[in-house]
Amino acid sequence: MILLLTGFLLLSLVTLAQSNPQSKKITERYFQDADTIKDVTPALQKEDGFTDYEELIGFLEKLQKVKPNMVELSYIGVSQKGYQVPLIHLLNKKTTGEKIKVWMQGGLHGNEPASTEGLLYLLQELVNNPKHEYLLERLEIAAVPMANIDGYLKQDRYAANGLDLNRDQTKLMAPESVFLKKTFSDYKAEVAIDFHEYNAFRKDFSKLSSFGVMSSYDVMLLKSGNLNVPQNMRTLTDSLFSGHTEMALDAHGLRHHDYVSSNKFRGAIHFNQGSNSARSSATSYALTNAISSLIEVRGSKLNRTSFKRRIATTYIVGMSYLTTAYHHVSVVKRAIQVAQISQDSLTVTSLRTVYKDQLQFIDIDTKELIDLDVTIRDASQMQAQLTRSAPAAYLIHKGQIEMIEKLQTLGIQVEQLEQETSYKVEAFKIIEYDRATARYEKMKLQTVKTSLENKSIAFSKGTFIIYTNQKNAPLLAEVLEPEAPNSFVSFGVLETSLNEELPIYRLPKTI
Ligand SMILES: [Zn+2]
Repeated sequence: MILLLTGFLLLSLVTLAQSNPQSKKITERYFQDADTIKDVTPALQKEDGFTDYEELIGFLEKLQKVKPNMVELSYIGVSQKGYQVPLIHLLNKKTTGEKIKVWMQGGLHGNEPASTEGLLYLLQELVNNPKHEYLLERLEIAAVPMANIDGYLKQDRYAANGLDLNRDQTKLMAPESVFLKKTFSDYKAEVAIDFHEYNAFRKDFSKLSSFGVMSSYDVMLLKSGNLNVPQNMRTLTDSLFSGHTEMALDAHGLRHHDYVSSNKFRGAIHFNQGSNSARSSATSYALTNAISSLIEVRGSKLNRTSFKRRIATTYIVGMSYLTTAYHHVSVVKRAIQVAQISQDSLTVTSLRTVYKDQLQFIDIDTKELIDLDVTIRDASQMQAQLTRSAPAAYLIHKGQIEMIEKLQTLGIQVEQLEQETSYKVEAFKIIEYDRATARYEKMKLQTVKTSLENKSIAFSKGTFIIYTNQKNAPLLAEVLEPEAPNSFVSFGVLETSLNEELPIYRLPKTI
């Protein structure tokens, strides 16, 4: 009996610790709830738990009823568990000037609830508050507030088949990834924001300071440092959009930083800053020549602690991106045009810049804000490692339907040769091959090195040809250059082996 009771006590303690890893004192001192947020979204209208499916649909249907001419509710696909995934589209058809297309997404990770709730809050403000009506004179907004419904309903990060939908943006193995990406590509977003929440209590943090630390930042902004994203788009995202958002956060007394995440590097704790990986949304969107950011609000594992503060933070960031877009329509449009002038070279692999810097934490023992010296591995300052000249086009054998379908889902225009044509091309020959023994995202990754061989080949009628002078061209290097870390070869979409020639060819630009 005593044993049973002790066990029960221990279990409750563990559950208690899991349900809220943060002391009341710290919450009161640093994360006071926002009283500006009204109880207008489903989760805010109940004591605990988060928005469920019926509440989500009911809420969105109500928005549509308020402004039926402006709000359109549609369904973009079915989750693995059979839920229709809603998309809400805001468009004022009465105003006809140039508009920026904005994409907003929440709940791609199912255990980051303020991303969904904050987006619902933003949507209802846009629809119900006349103060914000002007925004739709120059903006069109497509929003998916609960992208990973199966995960969200269980407050679980992953999709029903265990895949992380924010590591699935190039290989597109989950059905949700396919319809989300297809909808995104068809929409041709010019500004894209993916809302998330981050975990302030990483395992590594217990080893920092005397008794461990936790993150202090209300929000971290993640922008892509991928070198295939044209420099002018990276600069505009960083200086204009992020810059304005940082000012808005300062004005509300919210702590912020560029996104960092701890990582073990040769036994030491380092901090990865930013991201350059095409398998994640921020970079994947940026590679379509859109202004793109991923927003990490301090919230996962916190259940409903400071929930309104987290919703307010999401709202402030979202509103800041919208107002910045509104005031800079021609700047954004011009930047996208400039970005589409095709580049001379492309980056296949690259390395982060490493340096020392300070990050602010909350010391768990003293409960004070402290600055710690840390090593940063910065993806916003990538250094090219392997580069190649940008081809005029890629040619792909006509049997490679899976690759072609994925390219089309990624919004790449694919054409076919109307007759047999001879081209002088560069062929990829595999000169080094390694296959991982452990699985990552259910795949045993292939790592290859190739040499380019000049060949004259007669390509048969129907061979796929993909020109690089198109909007989403920066994505091509990431998926078709075999050494790229998120390429179709790396993720086994295209299986290969040593000494093989790939069914992908580069057609060089004529000089
Ligand atoms: Zn996330």
